[in-house]
Amino acid sequence: SGNRSGIMANSTCPYCGVGCGVQVRLSGAGTATAASADAVLSGDPTHPANFGRLCVKGSALGSTLHSNNRLLQPNVHGQNCDWPTTIQSIAASLTKTIAEHGPGSVAMYLSGQLLTEDYYVANKLMKGFIGSSHVDTNSRLCMASTVAGHKRAFGADVVPGCYEDLELANLLVLVGANMAWNHPVLWQRIEAARERNPALKIVVIDPRITATAAAADLHLQLKPGTDTVLFHGLLAQLIRAQQLDSEFIRQHCQGFADLAADLAKQQLTLSAIAAGCDLPLSSVTQFYQWFGQEHNTVTLFSQGVNQATDGTDKVNAILNCHLATGRIGKPGASPFSLTGQPNAMGGREVGGLANQLAAHIDFTDPAKIALVQQFWQAPNIATKAGYKAVELFEAVARGEIKAIWIMATNPLVSMPDADAVKAALAACPLVIVSDIYQHTDTLDIAHIKLPALGWSEKDGTVTNSERRISRQQAFQPAPGQAKADWQIICEVAAAMGFAGQFTFANAAEIFAEHAALSAFHNDGNRAFDLSGLSTLSAAQYQNLAPTQWPVNAENPAGRQRLFADGRFYTPNGRANFIAIDVRALLQEKATIDSNKPWLLNSGRIRDQWHSMTRTGAVPALMQHRSEPFVVMHPADAAAEGLRDGQLVQLTNLLGAMRARLEISEAQRRGELFVPMHWTAQFSQQARCDVLFAANVDPVSGQPALKLSQVTLEAV
Ligand code: SF4
Repeated sequence: SGNRSGIMANSTCPYCGVGCGVQVRLSGAGTATAASADAVLSGDPTHPANFGRLCVKGSALGSTLHSNNRLLQPNVHGQNCDWPTTIQSIAASLTKTIAEHGPGSVAMYLSGQLLTEDYYVANKLMKGFIGSSHVDTNSRLCMASTVAGHKRAFGADVVPGCYEDLELANLLVLVGANMAWNHPVLWQRIEAARERNPALKIVVIDPRITATAAAADLHLQLKPGTDTVLFHGLLAQLIRAQQLDSEFIRQHCQGFADLAADLAKQQLTLSAIAAGCDLPLSSVTQFYQWFGQEHNTVTLFSQGVNQATDGTDKVNAILNCHLATGRIGKPGASPFSLTGQPNAMGGREVGGLANQLAAHIDFTDPAKIALVQQFWQAPNIATKAGYKAVELFEAVARGEIKAIWIMATNPLVSMPDADAVKAALAACPLVIVSDIYQHTDTLDIAHIKLPALGWSEKDGTVTNSERRISRQQAFQPAPGQAKADWQIICEVAAAMGFAGQFTFANAAEIFAEHAALSAFHNDGNRAFDLSGLSTLSAAQYQNLAPTQWPVNAENPAGRQRLFADGRFYTPNGRANFIAIDVRALLQEKATIDSNKPWLLNSGRIRDQWHSMTRTGAVPALMQHRSEPFVVMHPADAAAEGLRDGQLVQLTNLLGAMRARLEISEAQRRGELFVPMHWTAQFSQQARCDVLFAANVDPVSGQPALKLSQVTLEAV
């Protein structure tokens, strides 16, 4: 059953986008069929993401394997049900809804926790056969602004660099990313690189003194939401100081002259930038000097950049600086987006976002849509983009979407304006939820509950932050009647009359079709190409080594870096500079008023993952923080007469949340921070996302989950 001596399975950690390799061995007298009792998990020393390391969450995976909270049987309208009856019920309900209200009345909401193969068949059923493009994913909450920024600059949704670049750099700039807690193994790699290379400098740009910021050589504790000012100001300074790679700009880019002229009008002096970002002038000057002088610079960014109403502009402001200095796709010199979820990138590869059709193909080119239709033999191909996550739940609220199938995610907790999402789903005629647990906030209001396979039981692939596709091999039997998500979807597809195109016997066959589709559409100007993997045998798929796409004739073993040759994926091969006007941001008052209402920020904590369905059941992980909390600066607490540990309530027009006060100098004056993880499963008033409005970036549709306003009072 194993491919290496003593190793029963190779997998990857199901939590963050680092995508660490996990090895599963048998201890004692265990056998493959009795694996669950004897499986011993450890970091895979051969996996290029982690080389054997695991963080505290990954190390605790073994404790999550035997949950007694599993959903073990389908349930239809409150009654336990067998699979054939359940599948027929879903197929009949969807068919009736489509007949009465059209294909646009049906939606799916997917997850970066799904495997690529699950995502592929879900997207194929919806966009090719049902004919609805209302398929979106919780990756919209996570990576959509980066996707949009990459497409604007590079012409494709691609991460240019690789993890090794972090170790080859002399300057690392971390923006809106608490890597020490949220990408811990990559952070460990950075710490090791720092020991080897004392010249390595780390700059952290974050409104809070996080564990990462505390370890930085320079921390810019900027006013929330002013990253665009800081990076546009950096570009202005690079131009003033003549620290550009003019040859790279001339040969490989376009739009620079217009951008430079536009920048000149904005008068981005160092003092204006420092005031606009509420930073000491000396810190801004130091950062700009280091960036200007050091070629081997990697800028890493994550949710502090993405989750904003100008998230796409923030991304492009960063990319502009890397293009202008020619620091892209070169060893130790690249912009680098840190993916939040284990398979956010894999979902995008198959078209899991509502504005994509499949295989990195958008709805913009009718010829490409026709190719996908031909490849799938699809009777009802969708031809235009569907609703993005926030729009999708608004359409549910309006009654326009009458049936929604949610897989492996908990939108009642994670969506902005979460109480409105709860009300919308409560009024929706048909809510189907696939999950591995018997209780989650979302599952508890579903009409049809479907038991899915979890990590360790399901089989397929994921893609991590550096474009690396890795296998998740199954090593435990299915509990109860649980099935793979792809299998449930295929059975529903067959019951709806599409059996012929959903005959997959296993994940390997789905992957092969997915890889073949990426090759089928390829016109030589596409980044996403798995043609080199489209003829894998079942055995080759089983033992597929972690590989970075593209994988094709030119790159048979995959490719570490893109754009080293200066060739981008825009129609003429040149990268785009994006002009951004930051004058309105600059004019906002620089110092935040410490009067109410408070500015509220949210984020992850070290030992929990998303809505805690898995990590919340591990006592060792709950020891770090056992209940929700709200962080406030000591001077603010003194002014309000509040004490550490006191229970407080945060309120705004959308909802209310209760948490214990933590007084800390990590917070800026006038600002609060809450963890995003707690759910109604723990306490009715623990969900923080009820306090964040459904404001989105107009380009990416990503909601601004880092900024809200609340009042605060002692309870
Ligand atoms: Fe899992 Fe991320 Fe930790 Fe690696 S760093 S073990 S992928 S949570």
